[in-house]
Amino acid sequence: AKVGGRNGLVVFSRDLAEVVERRVAIEAHLKNALDRNELSLAYQPKREIGSGRLTGWEALLRWQSPKLGMVGPQEFIPIAEQTGLIVPIGQWVLRNACLQLRAWKDLGLEAGNIAVNLSTRQFRQKDLAEQIAAALEDAGLAPGDLELELTESLLMDNLASAAEVLARLEQLGIRIAIDDFGTGYSSLSYLKTFPIHCLKIDRSFIQDIPADENDTAIVRTIIALARSLGLTVVAEGVETEAQLDYLRANQCDEGQGYLLSRPLDPDACTRLMRAGVVA
Ligand code: C2E
Ligand code: CA
Ligand code: CA
Ligand code: CA
Repeated sequence: AKVGGRNGLVVFSRDLAEVVERRVAIEAHLKNALDRNELSLAYQPKREIGSGRLTGWEALLRWQSPKLGMVGPQEFIPIAEQTGLIVPIGQWVLRNACLQLRAWKDLGLEAGNIAVNLSTRQFRQKDLAEQIAAALEDAGLAPGDLELELTESLLMDNLASAAEVLARLEQLGIRIAIDDFGTGYSSLSYLKTFPIHCLKIDRSFIQDIPADENDTAIVRTIIALARSLGLTVVAEGVETEAQLDYLRANQCDEGQGYLLSRPLDPDACTRLMRAGVVA
């Protein structure tokens, strides 16, 4: 037992050392990723479920590190958030996404709007509204061309300031979507006090529809809630025809997911829009 225990401890500390090492490496390389042009954006379309019409694109950060290979945002964004690197990175995402939509408009493409994910640290920046206004102006976009995706936990963590920040964004005319809806806090009161335009139903509720009765009940309830508040409702992570059929039958406005399209590089998006493909 003594030996086993000791082995267990050795295995444990080696795993822990690896986790720490990986974190330190990500932090060290992420510092230079922006300057070295290692970051890029992939775009995933959102479509109307009834008509198949393209309504917009969500910008999703990609990091190809020469040292670490492809690192997923799920892994590096929390580290960027903790270190503050998310501030310049987030600025870059915002400006780049706006310039991409400008480029598509210049090609005469009906690209819809562009959605950008915001993190807590970015949301807390004093000059957020000014940064956004400047990014829109520099790209020659209207405020309605931009949608910001915020999570419920971001709003709840910043409850004192959220109303003020959202009011300023609303004044600018920017659309606000609640990302991963249903996974955060249970309080729904913010939905009537905050100027919100869209709910994105989290993928975890879509995954097992139409078979799972709890999930179908939740999805129908969120759709009804959105409808009664006059909000657009989007299903995330649609992977199967059966899910899409269910969402269509229950009047979900829009869908996003691998069935409709994976996130694509900008050239592939351009080709998709040129081909006028309707999913
Ligand atoms: P999210 O905002 O909830 O984005 C949706 C994620 O689900 C994306 O993962 C997307 O590729 C993935 N996805 C889309 N459709 C499907 C599907 O049908 N099935 C499955 N299994 N997955 C699907 P990704 O690109 O790895 O991004 C993960 C998360 O990283 C995002 O979740 C978001 O929270 C964060 N993120 C990505 N880009 C940014 C960014 O520019 N800024 C900030 N702050 N966060 C970002
Ligand atoms: Ca999102
Ligand atoms: Ca989401
Ligand atoms: Ca998510």
